[in-house]
Amino acid sequence: MAEITLDKLAHSYLPAPKTDADFALKEIDHVWSDGGAYALLGPSGCGKTTLLNIISGLLVPSKGNVLFDGKDVTELQPEDRNIAQVFQFPVIYDTMTVRENLAFPLVNRGVATDEITKRVNDMIGILDLGAKADRKARDLTADEKQKISLGRGLVRYDVNAILFDEPLTVIDPHMKWQLRTKLKELHRQLGHTMIYVTHDQTEALTFADKVVVMFEGEVVQIGTPEELFDEPAHTFVGYFIGSPGMNILPCDVSGGVARVGSQDIPLNKGYSGLTGKIELGIRPEFVSLGAGKNGMPIQVKSVEDIGRFKIVHAQLEGYPVSAMLPEGSSVPADATAYFDTSRINLYRDSHLVRGEAAS
Ligand code: ATP
Repeated sequence: MAEITLDKLAHSYLPAPKTDADFALKEIDHVWSDGGAYALLGPSGCGKTTLLNIISGLLVPSKGNVLFDGKDVTELQPEDRNIAQVFQFPVIYDTMTVRENLAFPLVNRGVATDEITKRVNDMIGILDLGAKADRKARDLTADEKQKISLGRGLVRYDVNAILFDEPLTVIDPHMKWQLRTKLKELHRQLGHTMIYVTHDQTEALTFADKVVVMFEGEVVQIGTPEELFDEPAHTFVGYFIGSPGMNILPCDVSGGVARVGSQDIPLNKGYSGLTGKIELGIRPEFVSLGAGKNGMPIQVKSVEDIGRFKIVHAQLEGYPVSAMLPEGSSVPADATAYFDTSRINLYRDSHLVRGEAAS
């Protein structure tokens, strides 16, 4: 296991990049802790695979260095980095049995036979493949084959890191949940440094201690699931995390008050001299409804019933706003909205601004 340092890393696929837009990965400078579980999360094309490939050694970055436990590995080939990789589609030997497939990475590294038998048996148990252990891999389903791929990554105890590139894509939804939980459990048990690429927020939030959110080639936030929920550092994080995402409303701010259209919304912090594009962010969970003259007038467009909650989609001063209400709440015809002041975030040019505590 290793601490991974990303030292002023950036990558462009162009031979002579000039502007920021020419970089598929904009500069990232960060240390990922030994034994941490990280998820790289973001939409298609945001640079997740580029970053993963730089860490695995499939790609040499245009700028900066990668260090494993302080040792510069930027120019090393993947096979010289002592990492395990699990890809989107199973990488296994069809003519070998499940047991032989799992043993293969260990046989290759000259691990003692007794130790191999023990670890392979453990892994077969963990992956619930006992009934199929002596079957040829070609006879298994796509789910089972991908389980073997996961097992081949996890069976090695000595790796610097295990990298997963959307490993659950071919797995059916029910099994996805089981395998994700299993991976989390294994991370706790074995303590490997794990990096998991996904565009699915549920996968990222349930697997990772720290989620690395990427947007247009930039790492916009590295945080715990709670941090991403409570204080998104960028409006993209607010919008991408959560279902529905954070409400983002253009506003002006003067002292401790934000003005959205003709509505004055009190803030519990002071913000002085804000310039640029200013927006107010509030999650649907912290918007409540009133009626009549109390609160801000809204026009309700639709109500979604999702079991434990109702999601109300409305317009406030011409801007879309969602509210998440407990099951059984009523939605008055003349509905108004309230924002929980303590849960309001302010953004300047899409980035979070921390106000000064009110005196
Ligand atoms: P996906 O989820 O679709 O795999 P991603 O977040 O992993 O996307 P990358 O594959 O890292 O994103 O791509 C980032 C950007 O770099 C994209 O604009 C992509 O078109 C570009 N890109 C990726 N690989 C290459 C390449 N080999 N040559 C040129 N451009 C590339």
